[in-house]
Amino acid sequence: DELAGDPSRENVPRQVPGYHYSPVVPTPVAQPRLLVWSDEMGAELGLARPSDQGAAVELLAGNRVADSMRPYAARYGGHQFGNWAGQLGDGRAISLGELPGQQGRRWEIQLKGAGPTPYSRRADGRAVLRSSVREFLCSEAMHHLGVPTTRALSLVSTGDQVLRDMFYDGNAQHEPGAVVARVAPSFVRFGNFQILAAHEETDNLRALADYVIRHHFPELGAPESPEVYVAWLTEIARRTAEMVAHWQTVGFVHGVLNTDNMSILGLTIDYGPYGWLEPYEPGWTPNTTDFTNYRYAFGQQPQVCLWNLTQLAQALTPLVPDPELLRPALNQYVATFNRSHHVRLLAKLGLTASAEEEADKQLVGSLLPAMQAAQVDMTLFYRHLSHLTVRLLADEPVKELATELLSAVSYAAPAAEAAAPLRAWLMQYAARLRQEPATPEAIRAGMLAVNPKYVLRNYLAQQAIEAAETGDLAPLHTLHEVLKRPFDEQPEHEALAARRPSWAATKPGSATL
Ligand code: AMP
Ligand code: MG
Ligand code: MG
Repeated sequence: DELAGDPSRENVPRQVPGYHYSPVVPTPVAQPRLLVWSDEMGAELGLARPSDQGAAVELLAGNRVADSMRPYAARYGGHQFGNWAGQLGDGRAISLGELPGQQGRRWEIQLKGAGPTPYSRRADGRAVLRSSVREFLCSEAMHHLGVPTTRALSLVSTGDQVLRDMFYDGNAQHEPGAVVARVAPSFVRFGNFQILAAHEETDNLRALADYVIRHHFPELGAPESPEVYVAWLTEIARRTAEMVAHWQTVGFVHGVLNTDNMSILGLTIDYGPYGWLEPYEPGWTPNTTDFTNYRYAFGQQPQVCLWNLTQLAQALTPLVPDPELLRPALNQYVATFNRSHHVRLLAKLGLTASAEEEADKQLVGSLLPAMQAAQVDMTLFYRHLSHLTVRLLADEPVKELATELLSAVSYAAPAAEAAAPLRAWLMQYAARLRQEPATPEAIRAGMLAVNPKYVLRNYLAQQAIEAAETGDLAPLHTLHEVLKRPFDEQPEHEALAARRPSWAATKPGSATL
C-alpha cells in the first residue's frame, strides 16, 4: 500500500511474497496506431472496430486507463525447461479487467507489451512488432481451426523502438514495438499455483483454487473439499489432453511448454517461438534455444504436458489429505489423450470407429513413420488425401495415385525406399476405406472439414512481419482473413497453401522475446 499512487515505484522488479497479483499502471507509448482488429472477438465483446488512432486505441496501447479498470500483473512461478525457476509473473502483460461477452461469458482483456511490472526482472516489459504479429495471427488462426486457445482483439504499433538481440549473438538491434490485446476467460496458469505451493502459502493456494473453481468450473460444485479438488485436477487434465490432441493433429509446436505457459483452462497460451510442422518430423522444434535437448519438439508435447500436469498435481497436494488421490487425474490425461488423438486421426482419414479397433490403431499408427520417411508436408498430405479418397474408391490404381500424391506433397523427390512405407500404407488404407458405409463424396466432405488447407506456415508469418515492418500491412491482413476460413478452398489464395519454398527450409522460428 505504501507504493500506491507511485507508478514508477510500483513497477520496480521485486519478489512479491504473500500476493496473487500486483496493481500496476501500463506505461504509455509514443504513438499508438491500430494495425489489426479481430471482428469476431470484437463482436463477442460488443466492440466495433475503432479508428486507427484515437481514444479507443489509447486504451488498447495502455496510454489511457478507464475509471472502471483496475490493471494488474499476476504473480506466478514455473519450471523452465524442467528446472524450477522461482518467481516469474506477468513481466510484460497487464490485465485491464473483464468484459461481458455473449451468453453470459466473461472475458479478461490483457495487454501484452504494456511496460514493466514488478515481475519484469531484468527485461523491459515490451514486445516487438514481430512477436506481436505472431501472437495475433496464430492465436486467431488456432481459434478458427477449432483449437482451444486464448484470443486476440487488437494489434497496435507503439511508435517506440525496442532493443532486441534476435539471435542471442550480442548484436542487439532496434525493432518497432507493439502491444497485443489478448483475451481469455482467464490467464491463470499452472505456475500461479506452483509459486504459492513453493512458498508454502497454503491459504493463498486454497483461495486461488477456490476462486478458479467457482468462476471457471462451477459445474464441479462448491470447492473446499478434497473431492472437488480431485475432480478439478481431473478436468484440467482432460482439457489439457484434448488441447494436445488438437496440436498433434494440426501440426502445431508450441516451442516453450514451461509450466508457466500452461493455462489452467486447457487453452493454448503464450505464443512465442511456436511453429507449424511442414515436413512431418516428430523431432522438429522451432525453438532455437531448445536445439540441444529438443525437450519441446513436436513429438514430445504429449509427454511434456503430462510432466507439467504432474507438477501442478504436486502443487495441489497441500489441498488434499493424501497425494495419491491426485494420481487418477494423471491417468485421465493419458486415457483422454490416447482416445482423442486416435479419434481425430481416424476422422482425418475419413474413417469411423469400427469393430476392428486394433487393426485401425495399427493402420493409423503406421501412417506417422511412413509420412516421416517420405518427408511429406503434414497439412498438404491430409488435404490431398481427402480429395484422393473419391478416386481410391473408384478403383483407380493405387500405385499411380501414390505417385501423384507423393509428387504433390513431398519435400524431397523421395527415394523409392523412403517412399515404400507410404505406398504400402496407401494400399491398406484403400482397402479399409472400402468398408466405410458413407458415399465417397460424403467421406471427402467429412475429411475436408477436418483437414485444413491453410495453416500459419512459418515463412508466411515471417513475410507478413517483414512487410508490416516497412509499413505494408496488406500481407498481414490477407493472411489474417485467409486463416479465418482454413477449411475452405480459396482459389485466389492458392499460393498461401503451397509447400514451403526451399529458401525457407532452414529459417528457424524466432525464439527471441
Ligand atoms: P515466456 O518465455 O514468454 O513464457 O516468459 C517467461 C517470463 O519472462 C515471464 O515471466 C514473462 O513475463 C517474462 N518476460 C518475457 N519477456 C519479457 C519482457 N520483454 N519484459 C519483461 N518480462 C518479460
Ligand atoms: Mg510465458
Ligand atoms: Mg512469452
